[in-house]
Amino acid sequence: MKKQLSCIDCAVKSCQKGDGRYPDFCVTTHLDPQTLKDALTCYEEEENHRATLAAASVEYEHYCQYTRVEEIMDFARRIGAKKLGIATCVGLLAESRTLAAIFREHGFEVFGVCCKAGAVPKTELGIDEKCSAVGKAACNPILQAKVLNEAKTDLNVVVGLCVGHDSLFYKYSDALVTTAVTKDRVLGHNPVAALYTANSYYGKLLGKEGESI
Ligand code: SF4
Repeated sequence: MKKQLSCIDCAVKSCQKGDGRYPDFCVTTHLDPQTLKDALTCYEEEENHRATLAAASVEYEHYCQYTRVEEIMDFARRIGAKKLGIATCVGLLAESRTLAAIFREHGFEVFGVCCKAGAVPKTELGIDEKCSAVGKAACNPILQAKVLNEAKTDLNVVVGLCVGHDSLFYKYSDALVTTAVTKDRVLGHNPVAALYTANSYYGKLLGKEGESI
C-alpha cells in the first residue's frame, strides 16, 4: 500500500513556527484553498466563534496551570454554559459523582446519564449473545445523548465511554462535547502510556515483541 505522507510524518512543524520551511508533502501547502475558506467560514458561526475564543483564552490564561477539570469549568463559563451534562461509563460512576460535586461546588447545574441507562439487553440491538459475557445490558450512547439533549444541557462532558460508544455519543449530542476521561481499561484511563512506551516495554504494538530493552 502506498504510504501517503502527512503531518504525522513531519519533523519540522513549520506551520507552528511560521518559518516557511515546509516539507514537500506539507498539508498546509497542498491545501485546497476552498477547504481552508470553508473551515474559516465555519468559525464565523456564533457557537463556533464563542467556543474558539473561549478555548484560546483557557489555553493562554492557564497554560500548564489548570488541570483538565479546571479547564473544562473555565471553558464552560466562557461559553456561558450553566448546565453541564455528564455522559459516563457505568464503571466510572464514582468518578463522575466526584466530578459532578466539583462542578456543583463551582456553581454549575449538573445532569448525568450512565451508559447502561435504558437497561436494554445487548441482544435487542443485534449484538452477539456471546458479548453478554462481559455484561448483559448494552451501552446506549445514543440514548445518553438524547437524554442530555432533552435535559437541555449547555455542554456535555464524556467520562470514560468505550471506543465507538463515544463516537456515537459525539454524533448525537446537540451540545458541544468535551472529554474529561478517555477509557483505557488496561492503562488506568491513560491511553497515551501505550505511546510513551511503544518504543520500549510496549513494543509489541510496533511488532517488536520479545525484544529486550
Ligand atoms: S502542516 Fe506542514 S509543516 Fe505543519 S505539521 Fe503538517 S506537514 Fe508539517
